[in-house]
Amino acid sequence: MATETGFSKEDIKYMKAALKQAEKALAIGEVPIGAVIVENGRIIGRGYNRRNTDHTTLAHAEITAIRKANKKVGDWRLEGCTLYVTLEPCQMCAGALVQSRIDRVVIGAPSYKSGCGGTLLNILQNEEFNHQVEMETGVMQEECTAILQRFFKELRQRNKMRKKAAAQVAAPGAYDAHSSAAAAQAPAPDTGNAPAPDAAGQSSFD
Ligand SMILES: [Zn+2]
Repeated sequence: MATETGFSKEDIKYMKAALKQAEKALAIGEVPIGAVIVENGRIIGRGYNRRNTDHTTLAHAEITAIRKANKKVGDWRLEGCTLYVTLEPCQMCAGALVQSRIDRVVIGAPSYKSGCGGTLLNILQNEEFNHQVEMETGVMQEECTAILQRFFKELRQRNKMRKKAAAQVAAPGAYDAHSSAAAAQAPAPDTGNAPAPDAAGQSSFD
């Protein structure tokens, strides 16, 4: 049944579940992107971005969700399934979704840096491939965008504090061996395929 937003109650329910996964990424300092895979009204795979935590390019939310769903059904094929993801899939994940033969992909926010569900490319529905994916976009877009904005806002604040600490290290007489040096040496979080802050310190969601 369609709601006043035009999306089905089911799509909203499972996008909320994907957002819950994104919150898990946020809690560990990763770009908050989450995904779930649903078959016959049951979630069979969940995933969230863990790229920095796991030190692997492959730890995108969708790939983890696909891996878990594959294990659950005992098949590499995900026919009859729907993936819900808070941010438009990148080229790697869109490719994996086509390979999985998944029926449908429901997307929250668009990705202007790597979106392959129609923003930069439409890998999900390329007629040249042997499988095309049914697609729905903009489901809970506001909420999916808001969690990313929150992450990048906090990232900018942390970067500002780090710069301040580094300036204190550089300034004679203001050296604090512990806190400032540690802050200055802290690695900058990799913002990856999600909308990254540009040179002006603004994320593309601003
Ligand atoms: Zn991806």
